[in-house]
Amino acid sequence: MKRAVYPGTFDPVTYGHLDIIRRSSKLFDSVVIGVLHNSAKTPLFSVEERVNILKKATEDIENVEVMAFEGLSVDFAMACNANVIVRGLRLITDFEYELQMAQTNRKLAPDVDTAFLFTSLQYSYLSSTTVKEVANFGGDISEFVPPFVVDLIHQKLNTRRRLEQELPHEPGRA
Ligand code: ADP
Repeated sequence: MKRAVYPGTFDPVTYGHLDIIRRSSKLFDSVVIGVLHNSAKTPLFSVEERVNILKKATEDIENVEVMAFEGLSVDFAMACNANVIVRGLRLITDFEYELQMAQTNRKLAPDVDTAFLFTSLQYSYLSSTTVKEVANFGGDISEFVPPFVVDLIHQKLNTRRRLEQELPHEPGRA
């Protein structure tokens, strides 16, 4: 049985990620999406929220599951009994980093291989970071993420703005 993992931050999932997930679900018997919990980063969505978003966004794909993980992708792959790590490639700038990661992973775990899928052309510009930036400045993100994710991003950004406005008025604060 060919089992693959697709690790990433997914903060939040975009149509670019979903395209890679859908395509890899046709290439492998099963795919485990690994949502990275990285304590060095401050994501917009918590790891639990990102897992739930991905579960909802992929609920119609039978052979896909979603899990949180911490640490190395190769360890996650081995823990899932998978011998393939799927990664998506958008731009030439992705290539350098991804090649380095793939070679490092091969050294760490020679039985785990990395499979790259090139982005579909219509998503080649798309990243979670730009989606958040566009949303933050009031732009339309409906072509980048599923409708329920559009709503969640706006809710998060509104909460964040409210908190930022409230902070200076907290009692005891200068
Ligand atoms: P990471 O922080 O690990 O790069 P991301 O959530 O940004 O995590 O992306 C996870 C994977 O999905 C990476 O391999 C990335 O290159 C790929 N990816 C992200 N956006 C796209 C896209 N628009 N098209 C194809 N692959 C993508």
